[in-house]
Amino acid sequence: MARNVLFIPGDGIGPEVMAEARKVIDWLNARRGTGIQLTDAEMGLATWRKTGSPMSDETIAAAKAADAVLFGAVGGDEEIPRKLRRERGLLALRRAMGLYANLRPVKAYEALLDATSLKERVARGVDLVVLRELSSGVYFGEPRGTETLANGKRRAVDTQVYTEEEIERVARDAFLLARTRRGQVASVEKSNVMETGRLWRDVVTAMHAAEFPDVTLRHVLSDNFAMQIIRDPRQFDVVVTDNLFGDLLSDASAMIAGSLGMLPSASLGTADASGRRPALYEPVHGSAPDIAGKGIANPVAAILSVAMMLRHSFALTADADLVENAVAAALGEGARTADLYIQGGVQPLTTIGMGKAILGKLEALGG
Ligand code: NAD
Repeated sequence: MARNVLFIPGDGIGPEVMAEARKVIDWLNARRGTGIQLTDAEMGLATWRKTGSPMSDETIAAAKAADAVLFGAVGGDEEIPRKLRRERGLLALRRAMGLYANLRPVKAYEALLDATSLKERVARGVDLVVLRELSSGVYFGEPRGTETLANGKRRAVDTQVYTEEEIERVARDAFLLARTRRGQVASVEKSNVMETGRLWRDVVTAMHAAEFPDVTLRHVLSDNFAMQIIRDPRQFDVVVTDNLFGDLLSDASAMIAGSLGMLPSASLGTADASGRRPALYEPVHGSAPDIAGKGIANPVAAILSVAMMLRHSFALTADADLVENAVAAALGEGARTADLYIQGGVQPLTTIGMGKAILGKLEALGG
């Protein structure tokens, strides 16, 4: 079975880290028969400079037709006119693909415990996923805008809106995901003061009782979650929350992993009649203009995004585990890029060097 993946490296360190992700896919195809067929596409600042548009209609169509999209990073977009960015940027691609669920796993690797901002004893063993609703809430609600009042002062409005269906689809994803992990969901909202928070809690509670009584559900107020994630992050397995809280709390949770260069993500849409689910996999980090072109970016986030694709789009669980184990094994043997560089006297690896270390472990563990 051919698995068609649109491959978009993008700008800055995007092409550098994605080159290592591609090597992992080539290895999987050659040694594990994964049958992943990559089609290259362009997007971002360089594309805009060349063609006058950061993304073509063909790329949007190809993304919608693909089984999955693997994306590097875009950046320096600020140069591109705002309207064009809105219509042809990453947000537009996510919208065109109907992506509403953003998954960000956070894992504290034993070998990197001294790189996290928390105490080792707090971070050790953390393994959680933040599932953020991506397509609704206050970032999209109407009315929105800024008006000038009679007294000459301005007034700005954003509107937080959620429908039952929007909450249901992301809550269902959270419960299903929990069943494949440790069976625990924490639903995060602010039901003590917000209408949308009350609706969120009602809908999640009802779905849990009707469909997922085998999963453990907790409701956590978002301010309490912000405290708990720093105090004792090990208590969480799957965390489901809205767009705004998810934006903030997934970044806070991410710091447990030690570096932006370690964090993969997935954005998923609704399955079609044939069961195919639109999906885009990308590192959490951006184009990192400060280190672009130097060959020192950490490719782990891009490589772990490949593992997420294997797991969520292709149900290739053993291959996903293999890639994740190879990353852990390479780190365990001291492989470090400069962002993770903590011991004195050891030369940090280049992007290519880190890719090589991981490929070596793939060969050793699953060749
Ligand atoms: P960034 O993630 O690009 O970089 C933040 C810091 O982390 C930088 O110091 C960078 O060097 C470091 N860093 C990031 N990834 C790294 C890696 N793999 N290895 C080592 N170090 C790494 O965020 P920023 O600097 O705020 O944004 C730069 C550009 O990227 C902006 O134009 C922004 O709009 C864009 N951006 C794009 C995306 C995306 O494509 N999804 C996400 C975030 C930011």
